[in-house]
Amino acid sequence: MICKICGNNSAKVRKVARTYGKGKDMFVIEDVPVVSCSHCGESYLTAETLHEVERLKLHKKELTVRRPVNVVQFA
Ligand SMILES: [Zn+2]
Repeated sequence: MICKICGNNSAKVRKVARTYGKGKDMFVIEDVPVVSCSHCGESYLTAETLHEVERLKLHKKELTVRRPVNVVQFA
């Protein structure tokens, strides 16, 4: 797909888990589509994805599934 940063046809969508908030308010959204471009090296969320992320944040209480997570701290 076309990269909106550099206009090159080198952008691909990757599904990644993103973490929002911190401490006990921290939560993870899985399978967030991130556009990453091999031409300019940028990665970004589309306006549509950002909109959906905002929606999920508003409804996270109802949508959250509690799961035990293994966390590794760097250093
Ligand atoms: Zn690009």
